[in-house]
Amino acid sequence: MRLIRSPWVGLSLALGIRAGTGAGAAVPDAAGAEARAALTARHGEAESARIDRGVEQVRRYWRSEDGDARAFHDFVLAEFVPQGAARDALFNRFEFALERLDGYFTSLNRDLRRGTDLEIGPLLPLDERLAAFDPAAHVSEDLFQSKLAFVALLNFPLTTLEQRLAQGGTWSRRQWAEARLAGRFSSRVPAEVNARLTRAYSEAGTYISAYNVYMHHVLTSDGRRLFPAGLRLLSHWNLRDELKARYTDRDGLPRQRLIALVMDRIVRQEIPAAAVNNPLLDWTPETGAVAVSPVKDAEPTVGARAEAAREREPDERYRRWREIFQAERQADPHYPDHPTFIDRRFNLGREIPEAEVRRLLESVLTSPVSEPVARLIARRLGRKLEPFDVWYAGFKPRARYSEAELDEITRKRYPTAAAYAADLPRLLRELGFSEEKARFLAERIVVEPARGSGHAFGPARPDDKAHLRTRVGEHGMDYKGYNIAVHEMGHNVEQVFSVSTIDSNLLRGVPNTAFTEALAFVFQSRDLALLGLGASEPGEEHLRALEEFWATREIAGVALVDMEAWHWLYAHPEASPAQFREAVVRIAQDVWNRHYAALFGVRDVTLLGIYSHMVDSGLYTPDYPLGHLIAFQVEQHFRRTKGPMGTEFERLSRIGSVTPDAWMRQAVGSPLSAQPLLEATKNAVRALGG
Ligand SMILES: [Zn+2]
Repeated sequence: MRLIRSPWVGLSLALGIRAGTGAGAAVPDAAGAEARAALTARHGEAESARIDRGVEQVRRYWRSEDGDARAFHDFVLAEFVPQGAARDALFNRFEFALERLDGYFTSLNRDLRRGTDLEIGPLLPLDERLAAFDPAAHVSEDLFQSKLAFVALLNFPLTTLEQRLAQGGTWSRRQWAEARLAGRFSSRVPAEVNARLTRAYSEAGTYISAYNVYMHHVLTSDGRRLFPAGLRLLSHWNLRDELKARYTDRDGLPRQRLIALVMDRIVRQEIPAAAVNNPLLDWTPETGAVAVSPVKDAEPTVGARAEAAREREPDERYRRWREIFQAERQADPHYPDHPTFIDRRFNLGREIPEAEVRRLLESVLTSPVSEPVARLIARRLGRKLEPFDVWYAGFKPRARYSEAELDEITRKRYPTAAAYAADLPRLLRELGFSEEKARFLAERIVVEPARGSGHAFGPARPDDKAHLRTRVGEHGMDYKGYNIAVHEMGHNVEQVFSVSTIDSNLLRGVPNTAFTEALAFVFQSRDLALLGLGASEPGEEHLRALEEFWATREIAGVALVDMEAWHWLYAHPEASPAQFREAVVRIAQDVWNRHYAALFGVRDVTLLGIYSHMVDSGLYTPDYPLGHLIAFQVEQHFRRTKGPMGTEFERLSRIGSVTPDAWMRQAVGSPLSAQPLLEATKNAVRALGG
């Protein structure tokens, strides 16, 4: 579920952007030395280490348009502040100013997006333009041009991930806040490089968002149609979800096999280009045959042609992915400390080193508990595993109430968004917050009807409110809408604590989205209890552990494929899209052969290469398995917490955006690890028999 935070801080982090063109080139070494000497003469030897660092940090980002060597000299002499009351005052001013900047841009963006985000009548073309308009788009560069960024860089230390990991555990909250303050100005990428990045990501996103397969037109080798008319599935999400849904279908197996075959053809780019997003053609994946369809079940999109061309898609998938790599490569020279996108993604964005992520993923993939779990699944299925069973979905606890029964209950209770808002204090009390905290939180959460599926729009200044958006139908909130509302409420509570009661606004938030999703899930999993529909059943915990383990195991392999593909790109920067396709197919098969083939009894499967986010999101997929592991540890912590949940939830929400490792240690008392999940899986296997 979507979660929205302040607008302009996110971008440089998301893109992992850092450092300026030809760092230090605009100010000669001699001028730097001269400035350092003048400052040391003025402030004394006690300040010399800070002076050296501050002057170098400014030099690194200073461009000729910021002024000549003389201007640089004058600037650092005028703006350097020695330790003590003056520097404390400078810190406080920055903290407040950035809180205001973030805070108002956040509310402004929220207001501009009102038409697209809220159910307030027909969507106008203007709404889309307003939503795409980002008033904070140039703030980052403006802060450099106005030299505010340089004041921060002169007086507060930039830190490396190594330092934050090695020393962060002993840092004071103020030291963390200073690290985040300076860190905000650790990127200054030329506009044309950013523009190419934006274009590459957005074009890949557009390509992915129109990659539909019309399933009624996907035929078996004997010409049968296994899927209903009109069924259009977006690759890969809908394909995978349809495959998962078919586990409860008595005749699901041939359909699942057909979906897996479609996925393989997409990864290998053997899918006929004309068959993509085209309901006018029938396609037989097994033979590659294409024919004009005698069945008309869906309105074709513009450009879809009734021409039976069987030419394969000309490596478009890999061309788009590779273009993101090329755009990131243009950015590489601007990051002396993080010269590849891989470094930036892990060390700047996630703040977990790649080697550590790989170790975590492999600890799941190589765990001996995999075999008994695989046997358990085969037994539940009553057949041998097939490759697509990486998506086995049968561990979900059986529902005690039908969706229709639940819809009736929630619609009656919440006919409008206002009815949910009025119930907030009770909901929060039942979740374990004190009367006083429940009131405090409820006063700071606005509930509104969403146009889409729902999201939590967090505030960035303490005098703003969190916004809970969920779907409210004509006849009230159905169960899906309610379930999302409870999830988003978890985000909102974390957001309110993290903005209104945290010790420094510079530390608001959580290390990354996996953490806030984990906290939101703690709420969401209690949704039925909040309706008075009983607590969890015995055995449910075991099923949940197995479900988590199997899902984590699947996506861990996907993440490895993604990571190895990026390393291949850096090793072969001039390779063609076709060569890249061959490499990804081989990597997907290698990872499969290493970690899955023995369990499934089949080699050379390509399915791990199907994830769309590999193509359009630049090394995003490792966040999924990390999210599973983080969520498991956090949820387990709450299950073991004695006493009301509220106090503990508040404590966790106030740790703020330290590194994932520091957050985990403070939150649950141990580092990020797969062990709790693996232990729980072992217990589940023992209880249910493997
Ligand atoms: Zn969420």
